[in-house]
Amino acid sequence: MKDLYGREITYLRLSVTESCNLRCRYCIPEDCTRKKLHGGLMTEDEIIRSVEAAASLGIRKVRITGGEPLVRPDILSICRRVSGTEGIKEVSMTTNALLLADQANALYDAGIRRLNISLDTLDPEKYTWITRGGTLRKAIAGIEESLKVKFERIKLNTVLIGGFNENEIPALADLTRRWPVDVRFIELMPMPGSSEFGKEAYISCARVTEMLPELVRDREGSFSESGGVAKLYSFPGAPGKVGLISPVNEPFCEACCRLRLTADGKIRPCLYSDLEFPVRGLDRVRMEEQFKAAIHAKPRWHGGLTLPGRCLSDRCMNQIGG
Ligand code: SAM
Repeated sequence: MKDLYGREITYLRLSVTESCNLRCRYCIPEDCTRKKLHGGLMTEDEIIRSVEAAASLGIRKVRITGGEPLVRPDILSICRRVSGTEGIKEVSMTTNALLLADQANALYDAGIRRLNISLDTLDPEKYTWITRGGTLRKAIAGIEESLKVKFERIKLNTVLIGGFNENEIPALADLTRRWPVDVRFIELMPMPGSSEFGKEAYISCARVTEMLPELVRDREGSFSESGGVAKLYSFPGAPGKVGLISPVNEPFCEACCRLRLTADGKIRPCLYSDLEFPVRGLDRVRMEEQFKAAIHAKPRWHGGLTLPGRCLSDRCMNQIGG
């Protein structure tokens, strides 16, 4: 289904939990980590009913996210049922990989074909600092295990933070020579969870190409092949690509084909708008109505993001689904 600005809405970010086994400093503020969901989590059946409703309106891709999706006990069953939903052509997951080493095979068997894995640093101490207590070794073990499974694509997501990991751009990009993975640098977005960072933390993805002039642009003017939002580059001969995602400095709202569904059952047409359309407790037909209303209300653009530190969203990223 098309929105008012002619964008075909085909992609659903499906958050299955707000809980996370990490507390990343740009994502979850310390004081909102344990806040209870007012309406509770969507049940597995409610999630599946909403995906069916979304698919009937043209959603073809679903990315399962959170919070950390792998902490949800029924995650494999959810993945299996989402990937078996009529109309859904691709199901992927975003994870911090801490629990991936044990689950990579089972996720593939449950229909997950692509993984996005968050990795902001290769330094164990910095990893523990940015995640407020995580262990880098566990994330690397998860990545290495998933490389043994036949996922179609594995992408490593690095939030670029001035004064924190800028100096690691070459080492992180170099992973695309070592492993068949894409490394995607994402500009830090002002969210309630990122308020501890000052102006200097909000650096542009242009830093990556400044620091790595040997990177070759894939196709001038194009985004990634699957309709994604990353500008792609590669090192000659490297198996993986380097992607730049610039929501702050080069917003891609014109190409945005997404809706988000929060773990407490609210459709959000835009990450940076507080518009929400609840689906909990509704039957299939009324859920479809809510999806139609959300598509109809999708804002033309997310506005105002060029102001570092200014946040237009009421929820933290873990409460929306990044
Ligand atoms: N727990 C999973 C993980 O760590 O990948 C999935 C949820 S996490 C909220 C999804 C993505 O949101 C991650 O790649 C994370 O880096 C990104 N994210 C969270 N807060 C952000 C911010 N302020 N700016 C940019 N990206 C952010």
